[in-house]
Amino acid sequence: MTRALVTGGAGFLGSHLCERLLDEGWDVLCIDSLLTGNEGNIERIRDRDGFAFMHQSVVEDIEIDGGVDFVLHFASPASPRDYLDYPIQTLKVGAVGTWKTLGVAKAKGATFMLASTSEVYGDPLVHPQPETYWGNVNPIGPRGVYDEAKRYAEAMAMAYHREHGIDVKINRIFNTYGPFMRRQDGRAVPNFIDQALNDQPITVHGDGSQTRSLCYVDDLIEGIFRHLRSDLHGPTNIGNPHEVTVLEIAETIKKLAGSSSEIVFAPRPVDDPEQRRPDITRARSELGWEPQVAMEDGLDRTIEWARGAWN
Ligand code: UDP
Repeated sequence: MTRALVTGGAGFLGSHLCERLLDEGWDVLCIDSLLTGNEGNIERIRDRDGFAFMHQSVVEDIEIDGGVDFVLHFASPASPRDYLDYPIQTLKVGAVGTWKTLGVAKAKGATFMLASTSEVYGDPLVHPQPETYWGNVNPIGPRGVYDEAKRYAEAMAMAYHREHGIDVKINRIFNTYGPFMRRQDGRAVPNFIDQALNDQPITVHGDGSQTRSLCYVDDLIEGIFRHLRSDLHGPTNIGNPHEVTVLEIAETIKKLAGSSSEIVFAPRPVDDPEQRRPDITRARSELGWEPQVAMEDGLDRTIEWARGAWN
């Protein structure tokens, strides 16, 4: 029996990951502090064989009985709104939480996987972003708490790999969306969907010409699972290379939701990256993976889910 520890397992990505691992027949121990995750996300898997939940922060010592084959460290505030609200917790879960979960992996002889982020590239000067790019991050800006925490987490994971020989895999996760995002998450996709479904103004920051590349969650989880089973070490970009402007995202959601919302323009957050698109050459060639779900299809599924879940 394969057993995985998933931190942040009651979060958006974490809960999808737990579900996928259970589908593979694995045992899953989900840990979450419920700071930004919530138990509603694990309701659908709570009673499944092999699933267990521990309400605890990974910033505290973690005691786990029995063997663990994989430690997947997915705990962290991940939306710009969340890491502005919880700057110190964001730094701690990336720093102390990564150290403690690496300690679990070392003690159990487990493979360690880190949920890192495209934010390690900051406001990138190289486009699209390959794994070899070192990034352009403002360490003392408001986003620095997330960006630097994840950069530190990557450095710590690689140090455990080099010093202790731990098998370490780092996902640099680009913008991802889908069911089980929080209504009040603050990120563009859930915000725009919530606004469109309620015929409220859709708030585009700046003139909306900044770009993002949106990956549907099922595609992302498939990439992560293949990565987990691979013999890759170090960072791999996982995301959808289809790049669009934020204004296009707003217009598409408005159209798909059949909304009469107007699109309004609001101030841009500090250090908001201008452009973002993953170079996924590595994932394509080493994992045989690339996204399958087109943006309109994924948004359609997410809007349908939100209509039911957010009522
Ligand atoms: N954004 C926006 N309106 C919103 C929320 C976000 O225009 O209500 C913009 C945000 O400024 C950024 C892009 O959408 O340019 C993506 O933001 P998100 O918070 O989804 O994630 P990020 O990629 O910045 O981490």
